[in-house]
Amino acid sequence: MTLWDVVVIGLTITAVGLAFYLGVQTAYRRTDQKLVLANARLVELLRQRREQWETVFDTITDGIAVLNEKHEVQRANRALLDTLEPSGTGAHLCETLFATPTHMHDLLRTVTETGTRHTMTAPARQGSRQLRVTVAPLREQTTRKGRTVVVIEDVTERQAMQGRLIHNERMAAVGQLASGVAHELNNPLTSIGGLAELLVARESLSGRDLEHLSVINEQATRAKKIVRNLLAFARPGPDEMADIDLSKLSKRAAQLIEYDLRLRKVDLEEDYSADLPAVRGDRHQLQQVVINLLTNAVQAAEQNADNRRPVVQINTGVNDGTAYIRIFDTGAGIPTAALKNIFTPFFTTKDTGKGTGLGLSISYGIVKGHKGTLIVESTGVEGTTFKLDLPVYVDDASGPVSRPSDSGGFQVLPRAPGANVLIVDGDPAIRRTIETLFSGEDQKVDAMASADQAIEKLTTGGVDYDLVIADPRTATSQGESFAERLVNQWPALKSKTVLVTADVRPETGRWLDGLGCRVLRKPFNINELLKAASEMMQDGASKKTGTN
Ligand code: ADP
Repeated sequence: MTLWDVVVIGLTITAVGLAFYLGVQTAYRRTDQKLVLANARLVELLRQRREQWETVFDTITDGIAVLNEKHEVQRANRALLDTLEPSGTGAHLCETLFATPTHMHDLLRTVTETGTRHTMTAPARQGSRQLRVTVAPLREQTTRKGRTVVVIEDVTERQAMQGRLIHNERMAAVGQLASGVAHELNNPLTSIGGLAELLVARESLSGRDLEHLSVINEQATRAKKIVRNLLAFARPGPDEMADIDLSKLSKRAAQLIEYDLRLRKVDLEEDYSADLPAVRGDRHQLQQVVINLLTNAVQAAEQNADNRRPVVQINTGVNDGTAYIRIFDTGAGIPTAALKNIFTPFFTTKDTGKGTGLGLSISYGIVKGHKGTLIVESTGVEGTTFKLDLPVYVDDASGPVSRPSDSGGFQVLPRAPGANVLIVDGDPAIRRTIETLFSGEDQKVDAMASADQAIEKLTTGGVDYDLVIADPRTATSQGESFAERLVNQWPALKSKTVLVTADVRPETGRWLDGLGCRVLRKPFNINELLKAASEMMQDGASKKTGTN
């Protein structure tokens, strides 16, 4: 082999090697470019995904954070960063956000130790918010153990709503119980009170007997008031609606507790708005509310621990379509633990015999029935303010009613000589009471125990009745109610009939309204029945004689 050959072979090998090298290089470069491109695309994709996730987390209104092992915030979504401001990331979550940081630290430690998820609800450091916290361990490589993910939810509204629901349910249950008890007590109370009233009015009784009877009468009246209170609580709505001036009503209520004020040496400061627009409501029920609030205020002011002058203030006003009564006392305030229970029936902090725990719950029921609100506006060591709001009554035709009519007073029964009265009631004591009330002089009273007897009397008795007093639920042997039979078969008697009922259910109220007769609720006092009877008999008499 010549040197030339060697050179040629050598050159050839070098050329082939170079070509191969260049080919490989080119191939590599192409692959590199592809890889770089692929990587860049991947990075862009990751960036987009990350942005998407960040947007998702920032949109969530609950707070989300990643905490390091020292419980500092490493990352957080927008909602939490806003709450943490001005601290931001790096803040100690427990101290910055919670009223009881040690509980939160304990929770975070438990999660990292057990590796399981935990939840608790805790009060926030600021305001009176309640936060529900869920903590889970962040699963990752061993180098950064101890990090956690925390989700924080503000559950204040939800808890308040649940509280209100439970409260309403409890109120409804107690309302049913109260109406049941009141229903059972109505008849005996009507007859005890009615007969005692009648006997007290007799002149023939001796002094001592008269005193005893007066006590029976007083106590029956007191018991009737309690039953009325219970019914007011149980009934969904007010009884007798009228236009009411809250200033006048408050003044009258204040007059009624004057004796209590003097006895307890509490000063009353009154500031009533003149020309308050009227609210629509039941005068007796609303007055009862104001008396309940004033009585509590007087009792609270009387027990002032320090030497402040015991004062109760009452003022009225109007604000944005709502008339209000505000009652303030210089008492020691309502403790936080008691505050959530004060509107619950039978809750009392007063000594046995002093408090029944019904005042506020009944007042709450009454105010709710009037579409108003009753709240504790403020309470503390400086005293307590209750505020009662009622919507101003707007007469569709003429706008707000500014001058409420002020009914009152009592009419005395004019005698109706020769009047015929029919009484239909299954309860012998009620029959006896009403019969005693209307018997005498030349009035004729037929007292019937059953609907069948009454119908027989109306059909064949040949008596032209001037007044019918009946329990509407008294039923015939066929199961038909006496009241319905009466209005269908003797429509002329409709305007001469008083239906007396102990049934306070709303459906009964609607049914009675539909019958078109006058309705009186038990327990009534005899004056109420006499008043109703007298008006009806007067009406009847004026129709008979053609007067108006
Ligand atoms: P009672 O007065 O019979 O206890 P209430 O329903 O009227 O029943 O009141 C319930 C509780 O609310 C009271 O026992 C008392 O603890 C609290 N309370 C009501 N009003 C006041 C007030 N003005 N100041 C302090 N505590 C009050």
